[in-house]
Amino acid sequence: MPQYKKEITSWKSGGGKTVTFIVTKDCQLACKYCYLVGKNSKERMPWEIAKQAIDYILSRENEFKEESVIWDFIGGEPFLEIELIDRICDYIKVEMFSHNHHWFNSYRFSFSTNGINYHEDKVQRFIEKNRKHLSVGITIDGTEIKHDLNRIYKISGKGSYQDVAHNIPLWLKQFPEAATKVTISSADIPYIKESVLHLYSLGIHEVNINCVFEDVCGKRGMIFYSKTN
Ligand code: SF4
Repeated sequence: MPQYKKEITSWKSGGGKTVTFIVTKDCQLACKYCYLVGKNSKERMPWEIAKQAIDYILSRENEFKEESVIWDFIGGEPFLEIELIDRICDYIKVEMFSHNHHWFNSYRFSFSTNGINYHEDKVQRFIEKNRKHLSVGITIDGTEIKHDLNRIYKISGKGSYQDVAHNIPLWLKQFPEAATKVTISSADIPYIKESVLHLYSLGIHEVNINCVFEDVCGKRGMIFYSKTN
């Protein structure tokens, strides 16, 4: 009979194993600095592939000796595939428990999301179900002007700030310590200070800033690409 283990928190200090699922190449947005070219709704992770990966990893406990594990979900936008993710997470939990795996109760499900569909019922049901084992980061890039410089909808070209900002209070209520990630390209530099102050005013107290890091020379000089979700 599997024993209930005290929760181990080495995942917090980077001491855990990270397993990343790229669940889709689709996204609602077309951020100007996104390196994910060729977004589409056809390239999605099939359930069988996810299951094979989980079976492979969990059956090799001696090869994966880290004390804890982070099951990380990225895209595209991972929450577009919330049904698949829910199925994957349920399977992981059942398999870890039934094999009395040393990662049971030493795991996190981690998400980096653009926050657009965060409020939807199916996403919220998943969050409630897994709340104690979740890390969710929503990307909001600063003030509305700064955010909408880059983070625009794929179809309409409209800025996404209002739709993301709408979900920030719910997110912070559920994850008060949550952090966001601001991405800076050359066009954004004048907005850095006011953007950080703005995010603090929204109640986000951990603001990580990274410059877009993949450089490609474009016609107008240096263009930088990154993916933040
Ligand atoms: S950076 Fe993230 S949210 Fe923006 S287009 Fe790329 S995948 Fe979508």
